[in-house]
Amino acid sequence: MLDWILILFVFALGACIGSFLNVVVWRLPRNQSLVSPPSHCPKCNTPLAWYDNVPIFGWIFLRGRCRYCHESISIRYPLVELFTALLLVFYYLMFFIFQVGPCPPGAPAVNELGFVTPYHLDIAVDWPIYALYMFMVVSLLAASLIDAELFIIPISIPWLMAAVGIVVHALIDHPSGAGALNLSPPAAALAAGGGVGLLLSLIGWALGWIPTSFAAGEPALEVDRDLIEQQIKEAQAKGEPPPQLPPEYTPAQIRMEMRHEMLFLLPPLLCAFVWTYLTLRPGPLQHWWQSLVTPHWISGLLGAVMGALIGGLCVWLTRILGTLAFGRVAMGLGDVHLMLGVGAIVGAGASAVTFFIAPFFGILFALYALITRSRRELPYGPYLSAAAAFILLAYCPIAEYLRPGLQVLASLLQGRGLGG
Ligand SMILES: [Zn+2]
Repeated sequence: MLDWILILFVFALGACIGSFLNVVVWRLPRNQSLVSPPSHCPKCNTPLAWYDNVPIFGWIFLRGRCRYCHESISIRYPLVELFTALLLVFYYLMFFIFQVGPCPPGAPAVNELGFVTPYHLDIAVDWPIYALYMFMVVSLLAASLIDAELFIIPISIPWLMAAVGIVVHALIDHPSGAGALNLSPPAAALAAGGGVGLLLSLIGWALGWIPTSFAAGEPALEVDRDLIEQQIKEAQAKGEPPPQLPPEYTPAQIRMEMRHEMLFLLPPLLCAFVWTYLTLRPGPLQHWWQSLVTPHWISGLLGAVMGALIGGLCVWLTRILGTLAFGRVAMGLGDVHLMLGVGAIVGAGASAVTFFIAPFFGILFALYALITRSRRELPYGPYLSAAAAFILLAYCPIAEYLRPGLQVLASLLQGRGLGG
């Protein structure tokens, strides 16, 4: 009985969030305010009455037409609302009814079904991690809708995800909680050093010490370029001002630009390793560091920072190596930011796995395009988002599988590798 009430509540909440997503997807890339003016008809600008603005049902009662000018309203609006509501209900059912979801770090062995964790997820206890994960899912949905339409990911979405991830993990993490990211002192040293190094890089970049790569504009991926050329033709046919084609680079120029990005990555990597080395050597600094990172809120906060760094680094290294190898830009910097936000919420291990399973989702999308005969390719952001949404359900058994290997890595780091 209680479950039914909660599921109904989650559905209604999801529909309202979907309604807000419609506003975000339209206004954010157009640099309009998210709160004012209130919802209005895009054709005749008449403000909507509250009863026309009820998620899903408002559109049905109006039969998809504006009450005032009778212009049709896209079915995309109620579909996004319904989809968001169903997503939230789906994760509620998976986490709290079927017990497929996050588990505590280092949880005991999973049962023979593989997907069920011995940790019992309970809405009364674990609602904060559910809320955090749902925040990620709807943020990724908004980013994907914008990315699929306009080929950009507004940078504010992943950075908001990173900020929320760091704050919430600091507030709720304790080592026996589901989805907690608490780190051991050496791992916390890597995260803290990397985080400080990233700040140094950002300051250096803002001051002009680290040059911007592709200062004249990022070269477009080939799919994007074809689309923009098509848009230019359409605009010329209609006599409208055509969109700007991004600048072209030779392969040699593109490879040279990667040096700027490698320079940006140098401070985070150096700081991470230097700080880990210093705090691993027996002595007063090691003791000070261990006592500093003992509180759960600090080890949880640094766990989120570590996730952001690893998530971003996976994509960025692939971008740099792929670009050096092929002489054309392999992945956009938007994907680096996206995985930075994902990592701060799901953690280092899950964001790394997300990155490596994302190509399989690319294959699924490609099959769909083949069947529906749509020749339009999707950019990479939606694949990463789909993989991240999947990893929320699948990471617990994967972590269990990876744990022996990670323990060897941790003991190498603590024992023979450094300082020991
Ligand atoms: Zn109207």
